[in-house]
Amino acid sequence: MVQMRSCIACRNRESSKGLLHLVAIDGQVTPDPDRELHGRGAWLHPRCFELATQRHSFTRAFKSREELGTIDLEDFLKRSLTNERYTNNRLTIDREQK
Ligand SMILES: [Zn+2]
Repeated sequence: MVQMRSCIACRNRESSKGLLHLVAIDGQVTPDPDRELHGRGAWLHPRCFELATQRHSFTRAFKSREELGTIDLEDFLKRSLTNERYTNNRLTIDREQK
């Protein structure tokens, strides 16, 4: 069964396969592509990162009083751009096919 989630930036609903799972840890938005981390989660299209920053979607999604850091996430997205597996909305498809 395909789970539908909403992107925290553009608010469009999408299969969880096309979204990146994020968790807030110690004030940092942390990418969790394998969905192994605990805590309050949020979902984001990798392409919607800029939009999320502009709209302060991270602080809202994680109900944080302070601005959350996104260095880990930025780094992850930069690396992802050079990785075929993370293009074309196929973020976690390898694992889902198990
Ligand atoms: Zn989006």
